Amino acid sequence: MRVKKKTIALIAHDNKKHDMVNWALAHKDILANYSLCGTGTTAKLVAEATGLEVKAYLSGPLGGDLQIGAKMSEKSIDKVVFFWDPLQMQPHDPDVKALLRIAVVYDIPIATNRATANLLIRE
Ligand code: PGA
Repeated sequence: MRVKKKTIALIAHDNKKHDMVNWALAHKDILANYSLCGTGTTAKLVAEATGLEVKAYLSGPLGGDLQIGAKMSEKSIDKVVFFWDPLQMQPHDPDVKALLRIAVVYDIPIATNRATANLLIRE
């Protein structure tokens, strides 16, 4: 019987996209065991860099965080790697908060830095 792959959502704010791409490249082999999705630009950059398929939702500021939050509430996303920028205000800050909140509500593992992301993908 084929086991369904777990889904990881990848989201990175602009100043963190470089970190996200480097992290994804470093863990490409493990990430290949997951179904991947992400906010628009992050998904595109990770897909280009790694060659992995990454389903792209809308860009974060245009509703992508909310789309991913909705999928989390439907239990169709198992884990989230969210490299948010702690040094810059985001125009979609309410959406960012909603995403973090829904991860807590549904007890979905969400890594917000590289050290935690490393743990999260190994589980
Ligand atoms: P992006 O969205 O990947 O489309 O840039 C990320 C965000 O800012 O939430």
